[in-house]
Order: sequence, then C-alpha cells, then structure tokens
Amino acid sequence: MVRLNTLKPRLQAATNTRLAPAPTAMVERKRGSAGVRDRERIRLRDCGLCQACAVKGITAVGIDVDHKIPLWAGGSDHESNKWLLCTTCHNEKSAAEAKRRATGELIK
Ligand SMILES: [Zn+2]
Repeated sequence: MVRLNTLKPRLQAATNTRLAPAPTAMVERKRGSAGVRDRERIRLRDCGLCQACAVKGITAVGIDVDHKIPLWAGGSDHESNKWLLCTTCHNEKSAAEAKRRATGELIK
C-alpha cells in the first residue's frame, strides 16, 4: 500500500521532469505511382549510376534511390535531396545513419 505522503513528492517530481523535445514533423515521402515516377526521374537524371561511387571515381550501377539527408533528419522529399546509390553504398549510408539516429546525433 502506498502512503499518500510518499506518493505526493514523487508525483511532483514526475510532473516537474522536463519532457524530451518532440520530434520534428517528418516529411511524408511520395508513394504509389507518384513515387515510382519520381524514382524513375532520379534514375534517368543520375544516368543509372551510383552517385557516391562516382564521387570516388568508380563506375557502379545505381539500384536504390536514396534521400541524401534522411526524412527523419529533416531532409526534403524533393528530388534535389535524392540520389541513386548502389546497394553497397546505400547499405553503408543507412547503417551510419541508423547509428547516428540511435545516438541522437543530427545529420547535416
Ligand atoms: Zn556506390
């Protein structure tokens, strides 16, 4: 049984606890046929090549359309924030982002 005089200070402490800031509103990604058209536009724009490999002077077939700055980090769903990546680059980038997200580190 909990005594009222011990419950009251705990209740006050709990209500005085600062709440974590609310996550920023995430942009909704395009889905369905609009998403398919968007990804196809990015594939054509990027000539079907992985853009991260291209920066390193490597030619690799791009497979996945990726958000350069993830939506959860405040990135836009506009095509200027998208690029084509090979599966290896996409997996490496996603793993690094997941680690940053877990630690609360922001991506810039
Ligand atoms: Zn690549």
